[in-house]
Amino acid sequence: MLKNKIFYHFGNKQISLNALQNRGYLKIDDHKIYQDDIILMEQTHSVLVQIVKNRSSNYMPKVDALITKRKNIFLAVKTADCIPILIYDTKKMIAAIHAGREGVKKNIVEEVCHFFQKSRRKEIFVLLGPAICARHYEVDEQTFSEFVNETEVLQKFPQLDLKKVVLQQLLSFGIPASNIQNSPICTWENENYFSYRKNRTTQRQISLIAIL
Ligand SMILES: [Zn+2]
Repeated sequence: MLKNKIFYHFGNKQISLNALQNRGYLKIDDHKIYQDDIILMEQTHSVLVQIVKNRSSNYMPKVDALITKRKNIFLAVKTADCIPILIYDTKKMIAAIHAGREGVKKNIVEEVCHFFQKSRRKEIFVLLGPAICARHYEVDEQTFSEFVNETEVLQKFPQLDLKKVVLQQLLSFGIPASNIQNSPICTWENENYFSYRKNRTTQRQISLIAIL
């Protein structure tokens, strides 16, 4: 999707790590996006952020968020239930975030939003992609209470609603609700998406954002 020269797209079973590895590019509508233009992360459920200044093949920082101001660099996030989060502002800075339970618990979203400080908060736009819904995300009692204690957002045991927390974190940071788009798709329910919780798949959809 193109908006003010910002390109973004959430992946699915067709727009995936596998497709990228097999073909060397991802096909999204009329665009062919080649591997050399895509920056993937190693993704370790951290809150580490890497600012990307150059494209270079085989560069895969061990972080869970990427930021750039450079054109034609496609920041990528791999997911299969975790939340892919794409951010852009009116000053032409973009970010891609991998937010699973750990990232949400440690508030990776706020970590990344601090880098956008030069924009006024109402100039920051956030897209939350397809992810597992609360109904399909049950955890044990200890995991549940640790998460709730840390995030201070009300949850219904044994389910965790990760997006509810992310939305709260974004609003607390001062991003207007009208600037946030939230995909209603659950990766567990929708057959077009990989779900780790459903079948322990090692496959991942790839979501992308770039300044063109
Ligand atoms: Zn679901």
